[in-house]
Parts: sequence; C-alpha cells; structure tokens
Amino acid sequence: MSVEKTLSLLQERTARLEAGHVWLAGAGPGDLGCLTLDVVSALTQADVVVHDALVDPAVVAIAEGAELFYVGKRGGQLSITQAEITARLIALAKAGRKVLRLKGGDPYVFGRGGEEALALAREGIPFRFLPGITSGLAALGSIGIPPTMRGLNKAIILATGQTADPGDELDWRALARTGQPILIYMGLKILGRITAELIAGGLSPDTPAAIVMSATTPRERVHVATLGTIADDAERLGFASPVLTAVGRIVSMRAELLALAGQAQK
Ligand code: SAH
Repeated sequence: MSVEKTLSLLQERTARLEAGHVWLAGAGPGDLGCLTLDVVSALTQADVVVHDALVDPAVVAIAEGAELFYVGKRGGQLSITQAEITARLIALAKAGRKVLRLKGGDPYVFGRGGEEALALAREGIPFRFLPGITSGLAALGSIGIPPTMRGLNKAIILATGQTADPGDELDWRALARTGQPILIYMGLKILGRITAELIAGGLSPDTPAAIVMSATTPRERVHVATLGTIADDAERLGFASPVLTAVGRIVSMRAELLALAGQAQK
C-alpha cells in the first residue's frame, strides 16, 4: 500500500480534534520520521499549535495555516513562565480553539506535561494525551546503544540534571550504587558534578559513557569516553544543549555494533 493510501485510511480512523479540546502531544526526538501517526494527524487538524524550542520547525510546518505560539526558551531563559503557558492553553480552549500542545520527546517525560494535564483537568477542559518517543531512548538506540541488554542491565534510570531548586538535587551516589545504567537529561551544565558524584558513589572512572547532542537531527554529534573524562570532553568539544549523557556498560555496545556493521566510528 502506498504511504498516501495508508495515511488516508488512517485519517478515517484517527480521533477528531474538537473545538475547545487540547491535545497534549510529543513530537519525538527531532527526526520527522519519529513522529507518531496520531501526532501527524493532530498537526493537520489543529487550528493553534503551542510548541517548545525542541520541536523541529519542519514538524510545526505540517500545521499549515494554524496559528503558532512559541513558548520555548530564548537565550537559555524561558521567555514565558509555566503558569503563563498553562493559562494560555486554558484560554485558547475556552475560546473554542482546536489546541495542539506540542513538546519535544514525550510530553510526560521531563516535559512538565503532567502539570499541564492536571491544570486542564482542574478546569474541566477535555484533553487527550498523545505519546511521543522520548529523546533519551531514541538517542541511545540511534547511536547503537540498546537501552537494555540481556546480561548487562535489568533497569535503566532516566534522570534529570535540572532541579526545581538547588537543594532538590538527585542522590547520584545512590543511583550509582544500583549498578544500572543512567541516562541523564538536561545535565550538561552540572555534568562535572554529576560524574564526580557517580564516582563517589562507587562507579569506576573507567565506566563507559557517551554524550549525544541533537540526536536524530542533522546537527547530531556523538562522543564516547569514560565517566572520568566525559564532562571535560563535552566542554572541550563544545557540546551544547540539547544533550543526553549515558553512563554504563551498555555504552560499550556501540563500538561492538559499529565494528560488526563495518562502519567507521563517528
Ligand atoms: N520531553 C522530552 C525531554 C524534555 S527535557 C523527551 O521526552 O525527550 C529537555 C532535554 O531533553 C534536553 O535538555 C536534552 O537532555 C533532552 N533532549 C531532547 N531532545 C534531544 C535531542 N534531540 N538530542 C539530545 N537530547 C535531547
């Protein structure tokens, strides 16, 4: 079946985005191919799209004719507060718009989608959740690192390097003691501190570590090193947000896979 025909069949089956409703959706890691079909459908139905910085312009461009609200960061600072974003979603829904709230990755994974859902529910605004592929898992897989690998790990820890306030930081030493791989979102600024804490928690400085910037996009960059050197390397090599860092034995799968696949290492 052609892509066109498949999409047209799908169009008959996907839910309708109604006036006064909000769909809380994830755009995936960046690559257009990582969008779900539900999100593609939502983009064609919405008359207003409220989106973050991590959503690729090519994705937003699918919503031809829709009004666009950019609510991401400018110069590293949120130009609009979370309360203002939520208030805007509520106001647009109450004005009878068909609202698509589009976030990078999955809206409920370090995306504050949960807070927005609660606020919409409190106001009695009908909303629907459309999952997206979270960047962490997509990034790892696409650079040749399976998030789980029989014999290597039984869990994978998704952790954030960003906290609401400085006293609220994760107990990295406790995470290190689990011996399970750790995938760090938003950790670039404090990567030196995180890696030092993981070592203090008992992980060897030789533990494999990888950093990936702008995964699945043309700007993607990958660097594989060790826990002891990854933070300095990231700085020296000029890695800039958005960046994910993976720590653990699963990282060594990349070299093995690339060697077997006969590809040159990036
Ligand atoms: N909801 C998103 C995460 C939002 S937090 C998700 O599920 O993916 C923002 C962080 O996500 C960034 O600081 C970075 O750590 C990570 N991130 C998002 N997209 C990325 C990408 N394409 N490449 C690398 N990291 C990415």
